[in-house]
Amino acid sequence: MNEIQQEIQSNIKRIIDEIPKGVRLVAVSKYNSNDRIEAAYSVGQRLFGESRAQELVPKAQTLPKDIRWHFIGHLQTNKVKYIVPYVSCIESVDSFHLLSEINKQAQKINRVIPCLLQFHVAVEETKFGFNIEECKQMLLSDVYKEFCNVSIIGVMGMASITTDTDYIRKEFRQVKQIYTKLKSDFFANDDKFSEISMGMTHDYKIAIEEGSTIVRVGSGIFGERMYGNLS
Ligand SMILES: *Cc1c(COP(=O)(O)O)cnc(C)c1O
Repeated sequence: MNEIQQEIQSNIKRIIDEIPKGVRLVAVSKYNSNDRIEAAYSVGQRLFGESRAQELVPKAQTLPKDIRWHFIGHLQTNKVKYIVPYVSCIESVDSFHLLSEINKQAQKINRVIPCLLQFHVAVEETKFGFNIEECKQMLLSDVYKEFCNVSIIGVMGMASITTDTDYIRKEFRQVKQIYTKLKSDFFANDDKFSEISMGMTHDYKIAIEEGSTIVRVGSGIFGERMYGNLS
């Protein structure tokens, strides 16, 4: 076991100790190699996050089968078919068009894919995500009501990258409000709709205080990413 692997293991243990019982940790392993993921796996981590299809697929094929993979990045519709056999959740559903494609591809392999709807609350970090009106229109549509191979289990959001923690907190509150509104208007009788994915390395503590149920931590576990490390 090398130094980096030991570091990864102590980071995982520390974060697991820190977060409350009801909050799940997604270890964001993008741009990190299999041996680093295995270091996390060997201290019990089973939930990992990837943001690129071409990275998730080979990892899922070669690493232990009891790993659960969350897809967390912007997903192009032409990549959906590659990842649906491997993901346990797609956290970054940001359009009706994408949800429709996930439903179609999941149907072909007879799966129901748990999905989170991504909302755009940050100022400019990402242009991806629903706004509440678009989302309501989708949920009210007859087309959506026919989807049998996707299960919407909650919402996902990212805060702005800033050192202003009040600002970050405000954005997380917005995500929580969206969740609460959708829960009461569309999912009141659906126990599966229960997840709020928010919080990354630099803001997961604030996110938990504001109601997060899933935190996505990458560099806080694996260290700073070396982009271009993997092809
Ligand atoms: C990369 C990424 C993360 C993890 O970011 P860190 O700052 O390294 O913790 C979380 N969520 C999404 C959507 C990401 O793309």
